[in-house]
Amino acid sequence: MTDPQPLGAPDSGSVPILELEDVGFRYRSGTAALEGVSLTIRTGEAVGIVGESGAGKSTLLRLLLGLDRPTIGAVRFDGSPLDGRDRRRVRRFRASVQAVFQDPYSSLDPRQRIDRIVGEPLRSLGLEDASGAARRATAALEAVGLPQDAGRRYPHEFSGGQRQRIAIARAIVSNPRLLLADEPVSALDMTTRIQVIDLLAELREQYGLALVLVSHDLGTVAALCERTLVLQGGRVVEAGDTAQILHDPREPYTRRLISSIPRLPR
Ligand code: ADP
Repeated sequence: MTDPQPLGAPDSGSVPILELEDVGFRYRSGTAALEGVSLTIRTGEAVGIVGESGAGKSTLLRLLLGLDRPTIGAVRFDGSPLDGRDRRRVRRFRASVQAVFQDPYSSLDPRQRIDRIVGEPLRSLGLEDASGAARRATAALEAVGLPQDAGRRYPHEFSGGQRQRIAIARAIVSNPRLLLADEPVSALDMTTRIQVIDLLAELREQYGLALVLVSHDLGTVAALCERTLVLQGGRVVEAGDTAQILHDPREPYTRRLISSIPRLPR
């Protein structure tokens, strides 16, 4: 967790990390999950992806993470497409783009010590040996606000919120530039939810981390993201400034999404 890049550093808002250009994706079953989606994620910015269940949010995230390739259109990392044969560049991509998922219970191996779990990306990417990985894991655990001895303990000793902090520590240990978060607080109770949202906001500011947040909850998106993309049936129906979309949505679909949340944070 060395050399944090403050938000607002020169040109920090203008460097595209990941770009989707006119992307379509069709599952083997024939389902067209995405069509004509374009999205640019720049250094330090936070983009929310919203839409009802089945809208294509998870599929979009899988494309951004490189877990699937688009059926049509282009995905670019640092300005050019990823070629699986360029191992060094794939490694740089993996270190630079990390993810956190919804369920903090199933995502941590119960038999592994926390410092080993958190240091795993560094070992598997060949960036550190075991002792270097453990050292950086300890720093990452501190950065997410866990107690000093957390690394020596096991997942079952932690609550849901703490486990999500551990998952976040693992996601930031390789000093990524972009964090993809798929419903990161949906499994948590309301108080813990707010704490984890605050942590994500802090990490963004401290490390200049860009964030893509997938959520069906517009309140969480409003708390974290300046920009929002609304998906319906695999297409972008509305995109732009989060406050504008929340308070003056153009599309009836977006209006319905907004009215389905109990209270709008202003
Ligand atoms: P969301 O995350 O917004 O709920 P998804 O990206 O999971 O939406 O799904 C988009 C569409 O793709 C839906 O119609 C869904 O049924 C379909 N889909 C998702 N995963 C698969 C899969 N593995 N195989 C076939 N169809 C899928």
